[in-house]
Amino acid sequence: MKIAFIGLGNMGGGMAANLVKAGHEVRAFDLAEAALAAAKDKGCETFSSAAEACEGVDAVVSMLPNGGIVKAVYANDVVGKAPAGAILLDCSTIDVATAREVSASATAAGYAMVDAPVSGGIAAADAGTLTFMVGGSEEAFTRAEPILQAMGKAVIHAGAAGNGQAAKICNNMLLGIHMIGTCEAFAMAQKLGLDPQTFYDISSVSSGQCWSMTSYCPVPGVGPQSPSDNGYQGGFATALMLKDLKLAMEAAETAGVEPVMGQRARELYEAFDSAGNGARDFSAIIETLD
Ligand code: NAD
Repeated sequence: MKIAFIGLGNMGGGMAANLVKAGHEVRAFDLAEAALAAAKDKGCETFSSAAEACEGVDAVVSMLPNGGIVKAVYANDVVGKAPAGAILLDCSTIDVATAREVSASATAAGYAMVDAPVSGGIAAADAGTLTFMVGGSEEAFTRAEPILQAMGKAVIHAGAAGNGQAAKICNNMLLGIHMIGTCEAFAMAQKLGLDPQTFYDISSVSSGQCWSMTSYCPVPGVGPQSPSDNGYQGGFATALMLKDLKLAMEAAETAGVEPVMGQRARELYEAFDSAGNGARDFSAIIETLD
């Protein structure tokens, strides 16, 4: 299949390489020369504009920073440039309203489109083990699925256009909340005289157990290997967690709900980010809770 890939950054670079490995002809574009050069090394053909990369393709995949950029790229360089009938897959994390708007414009112009944001970071993008949450029609999902499978370990249809983004931000709001809760519990257990390992041994097999504790423990030396064992480097950057919490609060407002814990998580991550911690793993927030 001929696939245009737009946005070859930390995530997109590895994803495009996995499409090449799966035997696809990948036509790549990124604004950054270095990203384009790296894509070329991984077997992609490179172009000097997104519109050129989209010529004659069967599918377009994008992995871009935000909704404003996604909207502009699809309006200026994809819709009307890729052949009508191509399947369009936006894997960026963006707000639900923009995802629905871009999908409606593309569909009106005769394209099939899905929003397909991912769970999993740069390592999963490189290894082809991402989870895709997909919004779009049944027909669009059926066409997108084999392309996404070449880049991931799980591809789940979440319903109509925008529902992939809705699933992503609800999931990440929960992640932000339970990471902060896990940090608070460890900090308080220690203040009450409990050894962190002992608290882990008890809570990890009790009702307080959650992913932030048993797969991503914020306390160094406790639980399986995680960014806390590496000085909170790598992993999921605080700035990206804050981005997702902001998107979640925007979506909550649109939906007329007030997630109190989600709002508090956003405030705490905003303060942590503003204190210069944007590039550190999001579990480092434990340092502010003891
Ligand atoms: P990144 O900044 O490394 O990559 C984005 C790329 O898009 C850059 O190379 C940039 O040059 C390019 N770009 C920007 N505007 C462009 C345009 N108009 N045309 C073409 N290229 C353009 O970001 P990333 O970490 O790869 O994240 C990409 C998306 O994936 C974001 O929406 C992010 O929220 C989401 N995401 C990231 C992670 C992660 O761990 N990094 C995890 C899950 C989801």
